[in-house]
Order: sequence, then structure tokens, then C-alpha cells
Amino acid sequence: MLRWRGLGLTFIAASFWPLTFMVVNLRSIGRPERVLTILAVAWVIGILSVLVMQAIGLRLEVAETTSFILLVCLMSGGAVLRDFGALAYALLLVPAFAGWLISRMKGHWIVAGVVWGMAVALGVGPATALINSLQASSSSEFLDAESLSIRFAAKPDVFVIVFDGYPGLVAADLDALRPGDIDLAPELRAIGFEVPASSWTSYWNTLLSIPSMLEMGYPVVNADWEHSATKRDILRVLSGDNSVMDVIRENGYVTHMVESGWSSLSCGGNFDECIPAPVIDEATYLTLRHTFAWAYLQHEHPGPYAEGTLSTFEWLLTHGGPLSRSDQPDFVFSHVMAPHPPFFLDSDCSFTVTPERGGESMDMQGVPIAVRDALLVEQMDCVDTFMLEFAERMSPEDIVVFVSDHGTDRRHQTRLGSAEWSQDATIERLNNFLAVTLPEECSMGQSVILPNLFRRIFGCLATSNVESIPERMWINPMQELDRGIVMELVRGDPGSG
Ligand SMILES: [Zn+2]
Repeated sequence: MLRWRGLGLTFIAASFWPLTFMVVNLRSIGRPERVLTILAVAWVIGILSVLVMQAIGLRLEVAETTSFILLVCLMSGGAVLRDFGALAYALLLVPAFAGWLISRMKGHWIVAGVVWGMAVALGVGPATALINSLQASSSSEFLDAESLSIRFAAKPDVFVIVFDGYPGLVAADLDALRPGDIDLAPELRAIGFEVPASSWTSYWNTLLSIPSMLEMGYPVVNADWEHSATKRDILRVLSGDNSVMDVIRENGYVTHMVESGWSSLSCGGNFDECIPAPVIDEATYLTLRHTFAWAYLQHEHPGPYAEGTLSTFEWLLTHGGPLSRSDQPDFVFSHVMAPHPPFFLDSDCSFTVTPERGGESMDMQGVPIAVRDALLVEQMDCVDTFMLEFAERMSPEDIVVFVSDHGTDRRHQTRLGSAEWSQDATIERLNNFLAVTLPEECSMGQSVILPNLFRRIFGCLATSNVESIPERMWINPMQELDRGIVMELVRGDPGSG
């Protein structure tokens, strides 16, 4: 039988990493129950190992302490494996040696001191993370959108698919990103899509750009946007509490959201149907990667984004057609992490895991940018094939929106100060991809900016006029762009600045 001491020690060993991770990402873990399950499984393993050690004749105190050390090694073994490779297996000798030593020392105060010292140190991790997280809360700088009441005359199904980091046409030209097997824009135009030559996002990153599209405005203008209260509002908007959803629900649509695997974009309660991300989503991946389990999982799981992308594609290809043919008006929102790096999907959308495909930005030390460009184009090929296959399943009267949230970061834009953003860096990052099918008499116009995207689409369906708002853009760290070539490109009137 275990005592409180054994239960407590194994709990601390099982929980220090999952709880620290959860507290640090308090508001952005869409499915905390998955991380808690990892904690529970680890705790059960700890308890079972105490019972097994007792059964083979170890004293209870020795069994409890040895299991505690074993579990600590298992819970941080993934991090050690990453840094030291196969050598890390030697880590498993630590509990064996400790067990032997403890059994020799028979309750010596040094053993008790070391064990409780370790336990306190591990328990402090989640506790300080929690204190930091709570201290950081303050009032939100998020600007709520004016509420728009838009009544639709026609109610076609609306499918919105956001492709993370898909370069826009101007940016792809600028960086001579070679087209892969598919010359996408002409192919989409040939099957009825409007692909504006000039489409722009107002913000340089996902957490700001998608909310501005969904709020149909400029919800964040303060440089301090990452503080917790504003971030909480950003996540609330991403999870479905936003102006686009208000209009859609007011018009009686049935709403569906497909999760991408990125924790910050998980369904909130506003959707009628939520399609969860695969079990290895961003949060479970980052939790498991820290543990020894990752040594066995890594070969089959290239990471949450590639898996999330393929499961989103599969759901949309399976359910898109039936939803399009059903009588009720449906609204589907999904966010796909591809073609944003890592590039674990090849042109055929098969998993290909090599070190040079990893990383979360274009730039990777020791890998020439031309190689990264080619990998990006491969992953774009996979996405392009999906777009064309999906479009084929839709009825001509549906509204299908393929849109990206920002471009690539070949010029290290996310690390630059605003004074260092060149004209090209601005175009590369803020020019986005957009292709949309609209009712016959409707058009997006020459140039569109994300906050106006749904204003234009809803304008096509509404019984009355929906006003566009003036174009505004910001670069990192929240510096508003004023005049210059980029704004002229956006407004489609070069020469006026
Ligand atoms: Zn993004």
C-alpha cells in the first residue's frame, strides 16, 4: 500500500512539467483535458512503479523515492534526449543508482533532505508561473467592433479557409517564388474564382490579422497588445466570438469550425459543430516533447501542424460536398497551418521529415534560403492541390474564401524593429493571398484589405449597402504605416502619395 508520501511525491514528479506548461499558456490551451490526461497517465505509471518495486521486495520508502526519481527522469527525458541524443538513455541509470544508494543509507536525513528539496524545487515551477501569470493581468486594450446588423437577401453556404502564411501574388512575384506544378491563380480564375491582384493584411502576424478579418476592423492598435487581458480578448475573437459570426448567426446559418491543431485557435461555444484537432495538437505535442515518450512517438508524428493540416483537409473534402448540397445555410470556418513552416508536407501531401524541413520560420541556420524556398513551394503544391479538389466539390452558388493571414518572413520580419522594415519586407509580410467565389453581379475590386473582406462579401448578400472602412496597416512592433509605396499599392492608386 502507498502512503501519502508516495502519492504526493509521484504527483509532483508527474505534474511539474504539464502544470507549468498549462499555467504559462493559461488562456491559449484549447483542450486542457488532453494535457491533464498526460499528467494522469504519468501519475499512474509512478504509482504502479512503486507497487512493482514493493512486490520485488524493496522497502516502501525506497520504492517511493526511487519511483519519484524515475518519474522525474521520464518527464524531462525528452528535453535531455533532444540535447544529448542517445546518451540520454544513460539518464535511466540515475534512478537505479539512487535506489541502491537509498536502500544502503536506510532513512538517513541526507536522503530525506535531497528528496524533499527536489520535490519543493519542482513544485515551485508551476507555482511561480501561476503567480507571474496572475500578476500580468490588467485591463484590456482590445477595441470592440461597432455592431453591424446586416440582413441577407440570399443565403448561400459560406466556406472560409485560412491558409497560414500563404504568400500573396505581389510578394510571390517580388521574391520570384517559382510556381510549383500548379499555377494557382489562373487555375482558380478559370473555375470561377476572383483572385484580386492586390490583397493585404493590416497586421504582421496571425494573432492580430485573423481577429481584424473576423471583427471587420482594427481591434488592436496598442503596442502593449501581448499583455494578458488584451490577449484573452484576441483568443475569444479567434474562438468564434466575433462580428462575422454575429452576422452569420443572425441570418440563421448553421456554423461549423474545424480546429487546426494550433492551440490559440480552438472552438469556443459559439459554433454549432466543432471538429477537434488531432490528439497530438500543439499543446499535447509541446508537453510530450518534453518527456521520454517522445523518443517513441516522434517517428510517427511530424508535429501538430502537418497532422492538423491533413486532418482539416480530410474533413473538408469529406463534409464540404454534403454541406454544400444540404438545404440549410452552412458557415464553415477553418484555419490550416500550411504552408507556414515547418515543411513536413511534400508536394503530394505526404509526411517527409528531415531536419532541413523543420523550424518555424523561413530562415534556418546552415540551410540556404533557396532550399527553404523550394520546400515552401512543395508545401504550397500540397495546399494548391487541396484548394482545387475542394473547389470541385462545391456548388457554383456557394461562397468559398481561400485567404491567408500574412506572407512569409524571408527578411526576418518578426524579429525586426519597425525602423528596420524595408519596403520589400513590408510587401512580403503584409501582402496576402485571396481567392473568392462571389455571386455573379458582385466583385471584390482591384485591391482589398482583410478588415474589408467580409464587409465586401456580406455587401454582396445584403439587402442594403455595407460600408468599407479606410485602409490601415501596422508593422512590428505596432507601428502604423503612413504613406509610401505600400499604401499606394494597397489603395491601388500609385502616384497619389
Ligand atoms: Zn499566421
